[in-house]
Amino acid sequence: MELDKKLIVDVARLAEEGETLEGEVDIVDLDEEFVKPFGGVRYRLFARMYGSELLVRGSLEQDFDLVCSRCGRDFDTTVKVPDFTMSVEVPEKEQFADLTNDARECIILNLPTYPVCDESCPGIVQEAARPTDDRWAALDGLKVE
Ligand SMILES: [Zn+2]
Repeated sequence: MELDKKLIVDVARLAEEGETLEGEVDIVDLDEEFVKPFGGVRYRLFARMYGSELLVRGSLEQDFDLVCSRCGRDFDTTVKVPDFTMSVEVPEKEQFADLTNDARECIILNLPTYPVCDESCPGIVQEAARPTDDRWAALDGLKVE
């Protein structure tokens, strides 16, 4: 199924007492090596007009393939925004309110700065320390015939 590329509220058809809007839209089009979104933003939003102002409140979710900042491995995670809130002035002649940019920004701002595949990720296992005892240094000078 093709997902919509925009998160639009059809203000003209919105119930007067407000209504819950749910769906999935493909709006996080990042093309970064270490941050790959997959699927769309799943949203569940309550939208209501107050005069000429549209108030929206609800949750957003987007799945990502990230790279662990400790071990460098890929892992999947879901960025969740449980308290997305916005208000937008809708001019009288407008039928639609476009929430695309706000929703996209909100998801991106909630990406972890230092993603980790697991809180207990030990990171890259360091190679065993080389002996510092300088008797070993003598061996470095030996040539094997
Ligand atoms: Zn890791």
